[in-house]
Amino acid sequence: MTVYNFAAGPATLPDPVIKQIQEELPSLDGTGMGILEISHRSSLFDNIINTAEQDLRDLMHIPDNYHILFFQGGGTGQFAAAPLNLATNHKRIALLDSGHWATRAGDEAANLGVQVDVLASTKDDHYQELPQMPNPISNKDYDYLHITTNNTIEGTAYHQLPEHGNVTLVGDLSSNFLAEEYKVTDFGLIFAGVQKNVGPAGVTIAIIRDDLVKPVEHIPSILNYNLFVKKNSMFNTPPVFAIYASGLVLKWLKQQGGIAEIERINRQKSALLYDFLDDSKLFSNHIKKTDRSLTNIPFTTGDADLDKQVIQATTDAGLMNLKGHRSVGGLRASLYNAMPLAGVQALVDFLHNFERQH
Ligand code: PMP
Repeated sequence: MTVYNFAAGPATLPDPVIKQIQEELPSLDGTGMGILEISHRSSLFDNIINTAEQDLRDLMHIPDNYHILFFQGGGTGQFAAAPLNLATNHKRIALLDSGHWATRAGDEAANLGVQVDVLASTKDDHYQELPQMPNPISNKDYDYLHITTNNTIEGTAYHQLPEHGNVTLVGDLSSNFLAEEYKVTDFGLIFAGVQKNVGPAGVTIAIIRDDLVKPVEHIPSILNYNLFVKKNSMFNTPPVFAIYASGLVLKWLKQQGGIAEIERINRQKSALLYDFLDDSKLFSNHIKKTDRSLTNIPFTTGDADLDKQVIQATTDAGLMNLKGHRSVGGLRASLYNAMPLAGVQALVDFLHNFERQH
C-alpha cells in the first residue's frame, strides 16, 4: 500500500532525499564517518552549511544585505527572538491576529514586556478570513508589524502582503516557507521552522536585513541575532543533522525548478482538493476563497462522528494524519512541498468514493 502523509509538521520529505540520507548515514563523502557523528567545526560541515545557505539565497533571491541564520528553538524561539532583538526602540509592536500562531507570537512578546497592539483580528469569524490593515501605520509608533503569512491551523494565507507603510515587516513563514513566492525585500525579518516544507524538526531559519542587526544587551545569546551573524550561526553546536537534511531538500527544490515552479505545483495540488470540496455535498472548507492556504486545507462533513469515521477510513487506506487540529476539529490535509500531486489525487479519489457510499 502506498502511504501518503498529510501531517502538519514534521511532515513528509521527498523520497530521493530520504534515500540519500539512508545511503550516506554510515559514511559521508567516503570519510567513514556519518553526519550524526561529525563535528560542526569540521570542513565537511562547513561545506554543508555554506552550501545550504547559498542554495537558499538562490531559491529566494535573497540579496547580500540580508543574513541567513540557523537557530534552534523553533518558530516559538523566534516569537521571543524577534521582540528581544527588534522591539528595542518603542518597545511596541503591531500585530494582525490571524489565528493561533499569531496569538502565540503576541503573547510571547507581551510576556517579554513589549506592548502589543492587535490592529485587527478575525477571531470572531473563527479566523475564516484574514484580518486586513484598518489604518496606515508608521515607524514613529512601532518597532515592527508581525504577520503569520500562512495560518497552519486555520488554513488561510496572505498571498498579498498587508500594507505596512514604513514599518518593518516581520513574517512568520513557518508553514509556507518556500511553498510560494514572497519578495524577501518586503520583510525586515522572515523566520520559519523547517519541519514542514524544508526538512526534519530541529532547525529554524531566520533571514534578517542587515540594518536591523545590532548589539542588544541582556538578551540570551542563543537568541541573539547580532551574535549569530558574527559567528555564522555557530556560536554553539548547531543542529548538524537537521541542517544537512534541509540542505538536501534545498537541492531537491532547485531540481524541481525553484520556488516559482514549486508554487505552480502547489497551486495545482491545492486546487484539486478545493475544487473537490467546493463541489462536494458531504465535505466543505469554510475559508474565504481569496484567503485560502495552498499548504494547509481544513475540511469537515459538519458532523463530528462522521469526521471521525472518515479519519479512520483514510488511515486504513494509507492516507495518514488527516485529523484536524484539536482547536478546530474536522480534518486537515497539509500539502507541503514534498507531497506529490499523486497523493492529493489519491485523497480526492478516496473522499469521492466515501461520499458516494454515504
Ligand atoms: N508558526 C507557525 C505558523 C506554525 O505553524 C508553528 C508550528 N506548527 C509555529 C509557529 C511554532 O513552531 P515550532 O513548533 O517550531 O516552535
